[in-house]
This record gives sequence, structure tokens and C-alpha cells, in this order.
Amino acid sequence: MILDPPNSLGQAFSRGIRLKCPMCNKGRLFCGFIRMPKSCSVCAFHFERGPGYFLGSTYINYGVTTLLTTWTYMVLRFGFDISRSVLIPALAAFCLIFPVLFFRYARSLWLSFDCYFDRTGAMESVSEREKLEDKQL
Ligand SMILES: [Zn+2]
Repeated sequence: MILDPPNSLGQAFSRGIRLKCPMCNKGRLFCGFIRMPKSCSVCAFHFERGPGYFLGSTYINYGVTTLLTTWTYMVLRFGFDISRSVLIPALAAFCLIFPVLFFRYARSLWLSFDCYFDRTGAMESVSEREKLEDKQL
């Protein structure tokens, strides 16, 4: 299997938002709503590159949630003059629900952008894993 890490930010975003493996663009990152296999079923790329690796995806999730909440509040409050007593509970509910729904995409985007910005590290993690597997045989 030829590994092909993303060559551009657009390609990284495309693979991330479609929940595809960033290294082969064929394997699926999730096999359930939140269940993620350890490695790609097509190219065997190990998704979690270290302990706590996906902690960074919470920054993406948090950032997108706060940007959407702030933008929605500003537009609805000052553009359409909707009262705060309606907006605040609705946006509070949004802040609880949206991160759960966006969880998979945040992880996928994190992994995909990491493979783009750290192509060498991603390829090294593949070769190191192959060496370990060769020793075990
Ligand atoms: Zn793959």
C-alpha cells in the first residue's frame, strides 16, 4: 500500500471532513458513532501516534463551538434584535450538543492536519511500526 499524506491544506481538510484516513484517503476513521479503530483497515496507519495524541482535537472542537456561538449570538442579537432571554438558553443548549456531534470531525481534522504539517513524523511513525512488526516475526 502506497502511503500518500496530504499535499495541501485543502486536501488535508477534505480528508478530515470526510472522516477518511489521512494517509491513504480510503480507510474510514470511525466504525461507529465514536468508536475509532487503532489503525487504518486499508493501509494500517496507526491513528493514535502517542499517549494523549487526540487531546489537541479538543482545541478544534472548542474553537469551532465558540466561534459559531459568538457569531450566532452577534447576528441574532444585533442583526435581528432577538432578546437575550431567548438566545442564551438556546445557545447554551447548542454549546452542550454541538461538541458531541462535532467530536468525530474534530478528531479527524486534527489527525489530517497533523499528517500535513508533520509529514516526516507521520511517515516515520509508519516505518518505526513496520520495524517493530518485523522484529516480532
Ligand atoms: Zn489508511
